[in-house]
Amino acid sequence: MSALALPTSPSAFAKATWSDVAPYFDELATRNLDSSNIEPWLQGWSTLEELLTEASARAMIAYTIDTADPEKEADHLRFSTEVLPRVEERSVELARRLLESGYSTPALETTVARFRTQIGIFRDANVPIFAELEEHSARYQRITGGITVEWDGVEKPLPQLQPFLKSSDRSVRERAFRASNRPYMDLRAELSALFDQMYDLRQRAAKNAGFDNFRDYIFPAKFRFDYTPADCERFHEAVERMVAPAVERILESRRQRLGLDVLRPWDLAVDPYRPKALRPFSNAAELVSKARRVFDGVDPLLGAQFQDMIDEGLLDLESRKGKAPGGYCETLHYQGKPFIFMNAVGLVDDVNTLLHEAGHAFHAYAAHEQPLIWQRHPGSEAAELASMSMELLAAPHLRQPVGYFAPEDALSARLEHLEDILLSLVHIASVDAFQTWIYTSGRGGDAQARDEEWLRLRSRFERGVSWEGLKEERVARWYRQLHIFLYPFYYIEYGIAQIGALQVWRNSIKDPVKAVGRYREALALGAVQGLPEIYRAAGARLTFDAEPIGELVQLIEDEIGSLRAKLHSPAGSQSANKARAANRT
Ligand SMILES: [Zn+2]
Repeated sequence: MSALALPTSPSAFAKATWSDVAPYFDELATRNLDSSNIEPWLQGWSTLEELLTEASARAMIAYTIDTADPEKEADHLRFSTEVLPRVEERSVELARRLLESGYSTPALETTVARFRTQIGIFRDANVPIFAELEEHSARYQRITGGITVEWDGVEKPLPQLQPFLKSSDRSVRERAFRASNRPYMDLRAELSALFDQMYDLRQRAAKNAGFDNFRDYIFPAKFRFDYTPADCERFHEAVERMVAPAVERILESRRQRLGLDVLRPWDLAVDPYRPKALRPFSNAAELVSKARRVFDGVDPLLGAQFQDMIDEGLLDLESRKGKAPGGYCETLHYQGKPFIFMNAVGLVDDVNTLLHEAGHAFHAYAAHEQPLIWQRHPGSEAAELASMSMELLAAPHLRQPVGYFAPEDALSARLEHLEDILLSLVHIASVDAFQTWIYTSGRGGDAQARDEEWLRLRSRFERGVSWEGLKEERVARWYRQLHIFLYPFYYIEYGIAQIGALQVWRNSIKDPVKAVGRYREALALGAVQGLPEIYRAAGARLTFDAEPIGELVQLIEDEIGSLRAKLHSPAGSQSANKARAANRT
């Protein structure tokens, strides 16, 4: 067979069914290969995957923007349930051809290693197991997605309780906290029975592939070539030793600031400096135009890329009726451009989300310089390094007149961000330690033992809050952590990336221009280097050790101290006093 001419736009595949796509794969699977034509073959395969993933991404974007349109829903479902699973299947077949050819180049080595691992752990017997797991995942999403609570006589979905968790009225916060945990406490039997089944299936899949347990399987399955389970356990210890005590100090200061005898779980989200939530922007146009100036301040090239997203209509940021919940950044691989989707309503969190997603977007622009699709997407440890670093690199530019916040508000927003980083690290460590225990202790299939282990790990990592009388609420927390159900072991990546991002931030304090330059160089590597090399390019070290993590914690605490001092100074005291008065209950 001779090479089939590929379409020149993803729109050619917009309505494609599998039968429209299959001939291209058939041809790639049967073309005679030798050393003279392997490169154009590889390029053709990559372009086909670009076209298909972009067509699929466009269908997904269109649907999430307008979930009420049945045609858009049908297009999205056709890609996600019919076309893409077959594409994946046929891609494995082509990957085998590549491996058999023995062809490689230095820039292709990481791709070949991934293909080899993927094929090495593939078992026919696991195909129905993973299909069954998909069904259980869908069931978890159906059960939890349908949760509503009655709030002041109105049925509300859980995310809408968020503002009440931040209320300056303590009794409102407590009521919101209890109301948001109640459904998970009531669902505990159903969700733990569901998890029992998922646990069994995962352990069985691991055994089929020749591993002792699912934890040992997941490391190659997630292409974790550059760190081991022992590194993760060292990370847990480092967080326990270095981060947990810092969190305890931060929470003690919060307790004093709020004027409380004891801090309860419903006292964690309220801003102790601002009785009313900040409104950093009033509409999407303002969110976007300020972001453009912020990124320009970080680096003119990044500002220009963001301008390109504005010009090309690659942003849909404001919350509207009919949009799917959440936020994401999706790469359009053929064009080499990203798309950002969000549900902004005017809060500080929306600004943080946009900064985060823009980090992913800048990664997509930079990595598109790599010629083949597989050379662009590193794992989440590097992807989240891009997004979490951007949150920190953009922080000095968020003040008015350039950015979103009045000078004093910028201080408290920044304080909240830094505190959140430390709080999230202890959460990450407990989620990862918990999943490790589940799949390696031999007792992870016992629902009672699981809940007890979760409580034990929570008290190991999470200090400074009194959970007295709230045992069931504390247990409910892990049932809410959808990763444990849907994306097992996907969590420590956030911790690894955060430690990297804090190093990028530390570099930027000394030399912002150089730090951003290295950040961009790391992003441009895409997936052609290993994790340690990508981190090194960014000016960071991939580390799991207590000492370097402790240094970063110290840096955060110093910064928090100086922010607090500024907030306490005479210029900041008036509104701070008001905040204190409002928070006292
Ligand atoms: Zn992200």
